[in-house]
Amino acid sequence: MKSSAERLRWWVPLVSALVVVAGLAAARAGAGQEPAEKTTGRWCFAWTPALPKGAEERAALVKGAKWPSASKITISFLDGDPVVQRKVMEQAVKWTREAGGPANLIFEFRRDGPTDIRISFKNPGSWSVIGTGCRQIVDPGQPTMNFGWLDPATDETEYRRVVLHEFGHAIGLIHEHQNPAGGIQWNQVQVVKDLSGPPNNWSIPVISHNMFEPYAAHETNFTKVDSKSIMMYPIPANWTLNQFSAGLNTDLSDLDKAFVREQYP
Ligand SMILES: [Zn+2]
Repeated sequence: MKSSAERLRWWVPLVSALVVVAGLAAARAGAGQEPAEKTTGRWCFAWTPALPKGAEERAALVKGAKWPSASKITISFLDGDPVVQRKVMEQAVKWTREAGGPANLIFEFRRDGPTDIRISFKNPGSWSVIGTGCRQIVDPGQPTMNFGWLDPATDETEYRRVVLHEFGHAIGLIHEHQNPAGGIQWNQVQVVKDLSGPPNNWSIPVISHNMFEPYAAHETNFTKVDSKSIMMYPIPANWTLNQFSAGLNTDLSDLDKAFVREQYP
Protein backbone atom coordinates (compact mmCIF):
# COMPACT_ATOMS: atom_id res chain seq x y z
CA MET A 1 0.00 0.00 0.00
CA LYS A 2 1.23 3.43 -0.81
CA SER A 3 0.85 6.04 1.86
CA SER A 4 -1.82 8.55 1.16
CA ALA A 5 0.78 11.25 0.85
CA GLU A 6 2.19 9.54 -2.17
CA ARG A 7 -0.89 9.73 -4.20
CA LEU A 8 -2.52 12.68 -5.81
CA ARG A 9 -6.09 12.83 -6.55
CA TRP A 10 -8.06 14.45 -3.82
CA TRP A 11 -9.17 17.66 -5.08
CA VAL A 12 -8.04 20.46 -2.97
CA PRO A 13 -10.08 23.54 -3.16
CA LEU A 14 -7.74 26.17 -4.35
CA VAL A 15 -8.98 29.46 -5.34
CA SER A 16 -12.62 29.75 -5.87
CA ALA A 17 -15.58 29.47 -8.00
CA LEU A 18 -16.46 27.14 -10.68
CA VAL A 19 -13.20 25.46 -11.28
CA VAL A 20 -13.70 23.72 -14.50
CA VAL A 21 -11.64 20.63 -14.83
CA ALA A 22 -11.71 19.01 -18.15
CA GLY A 23 -13.07 15.57 -18.17
CA LEU A 24 -13.54 12.44 -19.87
CA ALA A 25 -14.49 11.86 -23.39
CA ALA A 26 -17.50 9.77 -23.95
CA ALA A 27 -16.61 7.51 -26.79
CA ARG A 28 -17.93 4.05 -26.42
CA ALA A 29 -16.02 0.86 -26.32
CA GLY A 30 -17.52 -1.58 -28.70
CA ALA A 31 -20.80 -1.14 -30.45
CA GLY A 32 -22.71 1.71 -28.89
CA GLN A 33 -25.87 3.48 -29.76
CA GLU A 34 -24.02 6.34 -31.29
CA PRO A 35 -20.90 6.45 -33.39
CA ALA A 36 -17.77 7.00 -31.35
CA GLU A 37 -17.02 10.32 -32.99
CA LYS A 38 -20.28 11.66 -31.67
CA THR A 39 -19.29 11.09 -28.09
CA THR A 40 -15.50 11.26 -27.99
CA GLY A 41 -15.56 15.03 -27.86
CA ARG A 42 -17.79 15.24 -24.82
CA TRP A 43 -15.78 16.17 -21.80
CA CYS A 44 -16.84 16.07 -18.23
CA PHE A 45 -16.01 18.86 -15.88
CA ALA A 46 -15.78 18.82 -12.15
CA TRP A 47 -15.91 21.84 -9.95
CA THR A 48 -16.28 23.19 -6.50
CA PRO A 49 -18.17 26.12 -5.11
CA ALA A 50 -16.31 29.17 -3.88
CA LEU A 51 -14.32 28.48 -0.79
CA PRO A 52 -13.01 30.65 1.96
CA LYS A 53 -9.45 31.80 1.64
CA GLY A 54 -6.67 31.39 4.14
CA ALA A 55 -4.27 28.68 5.04
CA GLU A 56 -6.21 27.37 7.97
CA GLU A 57 -9.44 27.10 6.13
CA ARG A 58 -7.63 25.68 3.23
CA ALA A 59 -6.03 22.97 5.30
CA ALA A 60 -9.40 22.15 6.77
CA LEU A 61 -10.96 22.16 3.39
CA VAL A 62 -8.48 19.70 2.10
CA LYS A 63 -9.96 17.35 4.57
CA GLY A 64 -13.36 18.75 3.79
CA ALA A 65 -13.28 17.76 0.13
CA LYS A 66 -12.88 14.21 1.27
CA TRP A 67 -15.73 12.59 3.14
CA PRO A 68 -15.06 11.10 6.55
CA SER A 69 -14.71 7.37 6.20
CA ALA A 70 -17.99 5.49 6.73
CA SER A 71 -20.03 8.57 5.80
CA LYS A 72 -23.56 8.17 4.66
CA ILE A 73 -23.93 10.32 1.55
CA THR A 74 -27.53 11.08 0.63
CA ILE A 75 -28.50 11.30 -3.03
CA SER A 76 -31.66 12.23 -4.90
CA PHE A 77 -32.76 12.77 -8.49
CA LEU A 78 -34.17 16.14 -9.50
CA ASP A 79 -35.57 14.76 -12.74
CA GLY A 80 -35.08 11.92 -15.18
CA ASP A 81 -36.54 8.70 -16.45
CA PRO A 82 -36.98 6.08 -13.70
CA VAL A 83 -35.19 3.51 -15.88
CA VAL A 84 -32.18 5.79 -16.23
CA GLN A 85 -32.24 6.61 -12.53
CA ARG A 86 -32.17 2.92 -11.65
CA LYS A 87 -29.23 2.29 -13.97
CA VAL A 88 -27.31 5.18 -12.43
CA MET A 89 -27.92 3.78 -8.94
CA GLU A 90 -26.77 0.30 -9.99
CA GLN A 91 -23.45 1.65 -11.25
CA ALA A 92 -22.82 4.26 -8.56
CA VAL A 93 -22.95 1.81 -5.67
CA LYS A 94 -20.07 -0.14 -7.20
CA TRP A 95 -17.78 2.33 -5.46
CA THR A 96 -19.11 1.23 -2.08
CA ARG A 97 -18.11 -1.62 0.12
CA GLU A 98 -21.73 -2.60 0.43
CA ALA A 99 -21.67 -3.60 -3.23
CA GLY A 100 -18.20 -5.12 -3.09
CA GLY A 101 -16.45 -1.88 -3.99
CA PRO A 102 -13.44 -0.21 -2.38
CA ALA A 103 -14.94 2.72 -0.44
CA ASN A 104 -16.21 2.55 3.10
CA LEU A 105 -19.02 4.97 2.24
CA ILE A 106 -22.76 4.52 2.11
CA PHE A 107 -24.74 5.92 -0.81
CA GLU A 108 -28.30 6.41 0.33
CA PHE A 109 -30.67 7.22 -2.50
CA ARG A 110 -33.74 9.11 -1.35
CA ARG A 111 -36.92 9.98 -3.10
CA ASP A 112 -36.96 13.48 -1.67
CA GLY A 113 -34.51 16.07 -0.47
CA PRO A 114 -32.67 17.60 1.12
CA THR A 115 -29.75 15.47 0.04
CA ASP A 116 -26.02 15.96 -0.34
CA ILE A 117 -25.90 15.01 -4.02
CA ARG A 118 -28.67 16.06 -6.42
CA ILE A 119 -28.63 14.54 -9.87
CA SER A 120 -30.12 16.04 -13.00
CA PHE A 121 -30.24 14.88 -16.61
CA LYS A 122 -31.38 18.16 -18.09
CA ASN A 123 -28.12 20.03 -18.59
CA PRO A 124 -25.53 19.61 -21.32
CA GLY A 125 -22.56 17.41 -20.60
CA SER A 126 -21.65 15.26 -17.67
CA TRP A 127 -20.17 16.86 -14.59
CA SER A 128 -20.01 16.80 -10.83
CA VAL A 129 -19.05 18.86 -7.86
CA ILE A 130 -15.98 17.40 -6.18
CA GLY A 131 -16.30 15.71 -2.82
CA THR A 132 -18.04 17.44 0.05
CA GLY A 133 -18.25 20.63 -2.03
CA CYS A 134 -21.81 19.58 -2.84
CA ARG A 135 -22.83 20.58 0.68
CA GLN A 136 -22.00 24.18 -0.10
CA ILE A 137 -24.66 24.27 -2.77
CA VAL A 138 -27.67 24.83 -0.61
CA ASP A 139 -30.36 25.51 -3.20
CA PRO A 140 -32.33 22.24 -3.17
CA GLY A 141 -33.26 22.75 -6.83
CA GLN A 142 -29.71 23.06 -8.04
CA PRO A 143 -28.02 19.89 -9.27
CA THR A 144 -24.59 18.92 -8.03
CA MET A 145 -24.16 16.25 -10.68
CA ASN A 146 -25.43 15.98 -14.25
CA PHE A 147 -25.60 13.27 -16.88
CA GLY A 148 -26.25 14.90 -20.22
CA TRP A 149 -26.34 11.96 -22.57
CA LEU A 150 -27.63 8.91 -20.75
CA ASP A 151 -30.95 7.54 -21.88
CA PRO A 152 -32.77 4.22 -21.50
CA ALA A 153 -31.11 2.87 -24.67
CA THR A 154 -27.55 3.74 -23.67
CA ASP A 155 -25.45 0.59 -23.35
CA GLU A 156 -24.31 -0.74 -20.01
CA THR A 157 -20.62 -0.08 -20.62
CA GLU A 158 -21.30 3.60 -21.10
CA TYR A 159 -23.44 3.72 -17.96
CA ARG A 160 -20.64 2.11 -15.98
CA ARG A 161 -17.98 4.38 -17.44
CA VAL A 162 -19.71 7.70 -17.00
CA VAL A 163 -21.44 6.98 -13.69
CA LEU A 164 -18.32 5.60 -11.99
CA HIS A 165 -16.37 8.59 -13.28
CA GLU A 166 -18.81 11.21 -11.98
CA PHE A 167 -19.22 9.45 -8.67
CA GLY A 168 -15.43 9.32 -8.51
CA HIS A 169 -15.54 13.13 -8.46
CA ALA A 170 -18.32 12.99 -5.87
CA ILE A 171 -16.08 11.05 -3.49
CA GLY A 172 -13.25 13.53 -4.06
CA LEU A 173 -11.26 12.31 -7.03
CA ILE A 174 -9.84 14.66 -9.63
CA HIS A 175 -8.93 13.95 -13.20
CA GLU A 176 -5.95 11.67 -13.46
CA HIS A 177 -4.23 13.77 -16.12
CA GLN A 178 -3.82 16.57 -13.56
CA ASN A 179 -1.86 14.32 -11.27
CA PRO A 180 1.22 16.31 -10.12
CA ALA A 181 3.27 13.14 -10.38
CA GLY A 182 3.40 14.15 -14.01
CA GLY A 183 4.36 11.82 -16.77
CA ILE A 184 2.52 13.63 -19.50
CA GLN A 185 4.41 16.01 -21.75
CA TRP A 186 1.72 17.81 -23.64
CA ASN A 187 1.86 18.67 -27.30
CA GLN A 188 0.16 21.92 -26.48
CA VAL A 189 -0.30 23.05 -30.05
CA GLN A 190 -2.27 19.92 -30.90
CA VAL A 191 -4.35 19.93 -27.71
CA VAL A 192 -5.27 23.56 -28.20
CA LYS A 193 -6.13 22.92 -31.81
CA ASP A 194 -8.45 20.03 -30.96
CA LEU A 195 -10.14 21.48 -27.88
CA SER A 196 -10.66 24.97 -29.23
CA GLY A 197 -12.88 23.55 -31.94
CA PRO A 198 -16.27 21.85 -31.72
CA PRO A 199 -17.80 20.34 -29.71
CA ASN A 200 -15.88 21.83 -26.79
CA ASN A 201 -14.98 25.24 -28.21
CA TRP A 202 -12.84 26.05 -25.20
CA SER A 203 -10.92 29.29 -24.91
CA ILE A 204 -7.16 29.19 -24.49
CA PRO A 205 -7.32 30.02 -20.75
CA VAL A 206 -9.85 27.24 -20.18
CA ILE A 207 -7.71 24.74 -22.05
CA SER A 208 -4.62 25.84 -20.20
CA HIS A 209 -6.28 25.58 -16.81
CA ASN A 210 -8.00 22.28 -17.45
CA MET A 211 -5.28 20.49 -19.31
CA PHE A 212 -1.84 21.84 -18.55
CA GLU A 213 -1.99 22.91 -14.92
CA PRO A 214 -1.57 19.96 -12.60
CA TYR A 215 -2.70 20.08 -9.02
CA ALA A 216 -0.03 20.93 -6.52
CA ALA A 217 1.44 18.00 -4.67
CA HIS A 218 0.76 19.48 -1.25
CA GLU A 219 -2.90 19.84 -2.03
CA THR A 220 -3.60 16.31 -2.98
CA ASN A 221 -3.01 12.73 -2.09
CA PHE A 222 -1.58 10.94 -5.02
CA THR A 223 0.44 8.17 -6.52
CA LYS A 224 1.96 7.69 -9.95
CA VAL A 225 -0.17 8.54 -12.95
CA ASP A 226 -2.50 5.64 -13.67
CA SER A 227 -3.35 5.44 -17.36
CA LYS A 228 -6.01 2.83 -16.56
CA SER A 229 -7.90 4.95 -14.04
CA ILE A 230 -11.59 5.62 -14.47
CA MET A 231 -10.60 9.22 -13.78
CA MET A 232 -8.28 9.34 -16.79
CA TYR A 233 -9.76 10.32 -20.05
CA PRO A 234 -8.65 9.32 -23.48
CA ILE A 235 -5.38 10.99 -24.39
CA PRO A 236 -4.51 10.46 -28.04
CA ALA A 237 -0.83 9.86 -28.69
CA ASN A 238 -0.60 13.01 -30.81
CA TRP A 239 -1.51 15.09 -27.76
CA THR A 240 1.75 14.20 -26.07
CA LEU A 241 5.42 14.48 -26.89
CA ASN A 242 6.57 11.48 -24.89
CA GLN A 243 4.44 8.69 -26.34
CA PHE A 244 2.05 8.87 -23.42
CA SER A 245 -1.48 7.90 -24.35
CA ALA A 246 -4.54 6.57 -22.63
CA GLY A 247 -7.51 4.76 -24.03
CA LEU A 248 -11.12 4.82 -23.05
CA ASN A 249 -11.32 3.35 -19.57
CA THR A 250 -14.68 1.95 -18.68
CA ASP A 251 -14.20 0.47 -15.22
CA LEU A 252 -12.30 0.96 -11.98
CA SER A 253 -8.62 0.12 -12.33
CA ASP A 254 -6.76 -1.96 -9.75
CA LEU A 255 -5.06 1.22 -8.60
CA ASP A 256 -8.37 3.08 -8.34
CA LYS A 257 -9.59 0.35 -6.02
CA ALA A 258 -6.42 0.18 -3.95
CA PHE A 259 -6.25 3.94 -3.55
CA VAL A 260 -9.87 4.42 -2.62
CA ARG A 261 -9.73 1.48 -0.24
CA GLU A 262 -6.84 3.21 1.48
CA GLN A 263 -8.55 6.62 1.57
CA TYR A 264 -11.85 5.27 2.86
CA PRO A 265 -10.82 2.42 5.12
ZN1 LIG B 1 -14.56 14.21 -14.89
